[in-house]
Amino acid sequence: MQNEYLRHPLDPRKLCTAERAITVDVSMQAMQRLQKMLVSAEGEAHYALQFSIGQQRLLQVQGTVKGEVTLECQRCLEAVSQTLESEFLWGLVTSEEAAINLPRTHEPIFIENETLDLLPALEDELILALPLVAYHPEGSCKVPGQLTEQQPEVQVSTKKHNPFSALADLKKSLKSGQ
Ligand SMILES: [Zn+2]
Repeated sequence: MQNEYLRHPLDPRKLCTAERAITVDVSMQAMQRLQKMLVSAEGEAHYALQFSIGQQRLLQVQGTVKGEVTLECQRCLEAVSQTLESEFLWGLVTSEEAAINLPRTHEPIFIENETLDLLPALEDELILALPLVAYHPEGSCKVPGQLTEQQPEVQVSTKKHNPFSALADLKKSLKSGQ
């Protein structure tokens, strides 16, 4: 979904002074760095941002993000979807010195020429929210070793996609076609 806040550079001073609250939807496809860590680029992340002016005239943004991502289960290597949720507090700064002097509660986000490049900052928040490793819930991986004894072996082979059966079918259809 396209979003007006991503198409144009933002004037953070204006937004903070007006104490604007905005919501931004970002498709996973728009986040190239994040996409490299995902199994699928489907879905989007929803951000809510509250601009305001904090202590000592600090331009700040309080935000939340929620999004569903598809990761690789480290037990069975199949896709597993996970909902990521995170909160953040940005202090908008124009120099390294200002970044160092930020309260510890604030994460520095650099603004250049009075503009805020929103997308990379939003993408960083979702990357930070990624788990180190992803797993299916205990016992629900689709590998034989994870199934309980009660389940007969034959169920496994019918559930699992077998690349050789597809090949055999192809050979059969080629033969019958000749
Ligand atoms: Zn798994």
